[in-house]
Amino acid sequence: MLRRLRDAIFERREDVVDVVSRETGKPRVEAVLAELLLSLDTANFLARQAPRWLRRERVPHHNIAMKAKAGWLEYSPHGVVAIISPWNYPFAIPMTEIIPALVAGNAVVLKPSELTPATGALVGELIEQAGFPKNLVQVVQGGGEVGAALIDAAPAKVFFTGSVATGRRIAEACAAKLIPSVLELGGKDAMIVLADADLEIASSAAVWGSFTNCGQACLSVERIYVERPAAERFSALCAEKTKKLRLGGASDAAADVGPMIRLRQLEKVEQQLREAEQLGARILTGGRRRADLGENFLEPAVVVQVGHSMQLMREETFGPVLAIRSVASADEAVELANDSPFALSASVWTGDEKKGRELASRIRAGAVMINDVASYYGISEAPHGGPGASGWGRTHSRLGLLEMVQVKYVDVDRLPRVAKAWWYGYAGDLTASAEGLVEALFAPSWKRRIGAMLGKRGARGLIFRRNRI
Ligand code: NAD
Repeated sequence: MLRRLRDAIFERREDVVDVVSRETGKPRVEAVLAELLLSLDTANFLARQAPRWLRRERVPHHNIAMKAKAGWLEYSPHGVVAIISPWNYPFAIPMTEIIPALVAGNAVVLKPSELTPATGALVGELIEQAGFPKNLVQVVQGGGEVGAALIDAAPAKVFFTGSVATGRRIAEACAAKLIPSVLELGGKDAMIVLADADLEIASSAAVWGSFTNCGQACLSVERIYVERPAAERFSALCAEKTKKLRLGGASDAAADVGPMIRLRQLEKVEQQLREAEQLGARILTGGRRRADLGENFLEPAVVVQVGHSMQLMREETFGPVLAIRSVASADEAVELANDSPFALSASVWTGDEKKGRELASRIRAGAVMINDVASYYGISEAPHGGPGASGWGRTHSRLGLLEMVQVKYVDVDRLPRVAKAWWYGYAGDLTASAEGLVEALFAPSWKRRIGAMLGKRGARGLIFRRNRI
């Protein structure tokens, strides 16, 4: 079925790209790479892997006292799961959650963003076109009140992707009904650039990572910490490359950066830029509205000397801003990167892979890339999701698939005709034998363990008990 879904998406790829770029304003190439490709790959990937990962799994017992039992893990669907998705990747996000939900045996109610209803409807159409049973996936359209009503209807699990404020409301609503959830919330991804990095490449990555989808991506590069000796050249390269970007709507085939989704969001970005300037930051380029192109267009901005307490470093900007702060050392960069409520992903840029890995393991984030940004999202094997204000649970990968199932442990006793040693009949030496078992398993020397195993009142007594009820 997933392969049929993949083929249906492929067949209607033009429609997918048309509707996504029309509703979001993103350049077509970004719709192809970040939405279409990822959805096709997820269908392919799980068609191959899910049967293996969802199969009954043997659980060997390490404890000698439990060797007479055989255990298995079984995975079963939750039932009807709710998927509530945002506008910014309106095709890929619901698709990469619906695919694992279905392959694990769930039914789905999808509530797409009210800003991208046509993309949401197309997701539903493609599932139907692939031949899944009618209404196995239902798409309900509307705003926050429809999302809230959906949770009120008590689905078996909620998969939410969106802002922290909405995530908090959803967590509260789910808690009241004890509904489990996966929350994929905001990000404030740090990019750490060491002085030994290839600055040409790192600056191109910073520009793309800050401005792709007009900066409206959860994995946007939102804070850049660059080691002092490299700071000036790196900032100059970022500004020079940003000036070359072409702003334009989805109908402009040459556009690099599209509009913001709505004026309210644009005003929030302007306010963060104003505050930064007032507190001493410097805008090297951009930050002005482009009313000639439309009311939601903002020129991509490069800002330097951004202080740690400014909103540009503390709050999710979710707009076309590349914010740079120079640091004295890699240690200072890690310290600043970790001092944030968000922890979705991060990146480290260095010519020394060993150092990169060492820093990566010290950064608090769900994913850290060394010498690349954000692209792990396109690796189906890589789990996505981070702690703190970035939410909980995982999507994508085997871990994301396992969020779609209940885990059941099944145990088979291999000695069904033998009453268990720990059952009633506590009188006599049972306590001494139980203590003997503890001694036999955990005493600090082998001599004591063997003694406890063979001794008259030792563990042996558990096996040869007579006074059972
Ligand atoms: P949003 O929180 O405004 O809306 C997300 C969805 O929640 C929409 O479908 C909306 O209708 C619904 N909703 C709103 N109120 C609700 C309520 N009370 N109950 C139930 N549903 C409700 O987010 P947005 O503006 O669409 O998306 C942008 C945000 O999403 C950013 O913060 C971004 O970082 C985040 N995001 C995170 C990821 C990730 O994987 N972590 C991916 C993409 C976007």
